[in-house]
Amino acid sequence: MSFYRKYRPAVLSEIDNDMVRQQLTSFLSKDKKDLPHAYLFTGPKGAGKTTAARLVAKIFNCEKPDKSGSPCGTCEACKMIAQARHLDVLELDAASNRGIDEIRALRDTIALTPSFAPYKIYIIDEVHMLTTEAFNALLKTLEEPPPHAVFVLATTDVQKIPATIISRCIHVSFSRADQKALLTALKRIVKDEKISIDDDALALIADNSDGAYRDAVKFLEQVSFHKGKITQSIVRDLLSVSEEKTISGFLVALGTRDRKEALGIIAELVKNGRDIKTFLVDTLHILESILVGSVMGKPTDVLSEQDVRELIPRLTRAYADLRISPIPQLPLELAVVEFCGEQESAPVPVSRDGSLSLEQLTEHWQDFIAAANPFNHSVAGFLRSARPKAVKNGIVTIEAFYPFHQEKLAEVKVTQLLETVLKKLFGEKVKVEIVLGKK
Ligand SMILES: [Zn+2]
Repeated sequence: MSFYRKYRPAVLSEIDNDMVRQQLTSFLSKDKKDLPHAYLFTGPKGAGKTTAARLVAKIFNCEKPDKSGSPCGTCEACKMIAQARHLDVLELDAASNRGIDEIRALRDTIALTPSFAPYKIYIIDEVHMLTTEAFNALLKTLEEPPPHAVFVLATTDVQKIPATIISRCIHVSFSRADQKALLTALKRIVKDEKISIDDDALALIADNSDGAYRDAVKFLEQVSFHKGKITQSIVRDLLSVSEEKTISGFLVALGTRDRKEALGIIAELVKNGRDIKTFLVDTLHILESILVGSVMGKPTDVLSEQDVRELIPRLTRAYADLRISPIPQLPLELAVVEFCGEQESAPVPVSRDGSLSLEQLTEHWQDFIAAANPFNHSVAGFLRSARPKAVKNGIVTIEAFYPFHQEKLAEVKVTQLLETVLKKLFGEKVKVEIVLGKK
């Protein structure tokens, strides 16, 4: 069994997200029949929504809750719920065709009493994917649920949920996990699995998981196959994805002539004890493949062909100078400063409260596309048929309306490019998320 499945919190006290744990625990003080019958869980992927939904199911159906009303996690009902095998706990995926049929069928079967447990729990994942018709059906059910029915709706995209549905639910918001919560989760596994790993190696895993428990735990599982003590440098080697991410971020910064960002990336490498020489060689490898690709007619993505031709000799020189430089990163920094030149584009004045808003982005959407165009024509093309959807908590959500566009725009190097362009335009560091919209 994978670590992620094995170490899903089985009882409330194991939830590492403080807010969520407290909110769920607060329900225990009430009698079950007085508990809300509809819950809406919102938040990013991998933040633990499904696990929490199953815990709600356990609160209602555990056979041996403790004095506080907390589910035991070990009785037959709890075990079946954890394995998604409980006959009265139905997990539906609104994103799949089967899910939609199941929700249709739900209307007909909802009145039936549960087979075994006191309550029938409906967990509907990706609920924002429901059609209007299905939402209406769901709303009718939520308005007058039979006393034995409990709904847990989960979504990564709360803005697509009709207000009429939201108002009938208890809303639990799952934020990205902070470093502390991730480390607590990882340390529990490390202890149980007797994994020999350094603290700074664990911290690096937490840093690289973008606030998602699932990612952090998967990373840990991946490195746990290593024999012997796991150090930070081993983790670094194994997380080659993050290496690629750093390089593409660096190239995006160069492509946009963002000296500060590029120098910041170098400073980060130095701080993390990364080998500058290796970084240069890896970057040159990527540049080489872009150069060769561009000759074959492949688009150059984040850099123009001219940039690539200019960067290769500059970085090769930096590599040669490295041998005689008393400060390893200095030749690379010099190459960056020389390549980026003096000019920095002037940012558009930000709103008075100093934060980028959806209105602002919508107003400057064409400027944004124009600013992205020199780096990547095809990306600019995709953006033209997309639209800004939300700006919230430092995350800019862009809606694309074709799966192919969404896929392309969601590539790491492209979101990095978009983040850099946004920063240049609005003077604010944000994260970009691409979602698939319904036309
Ligand atoms: Zn139980």
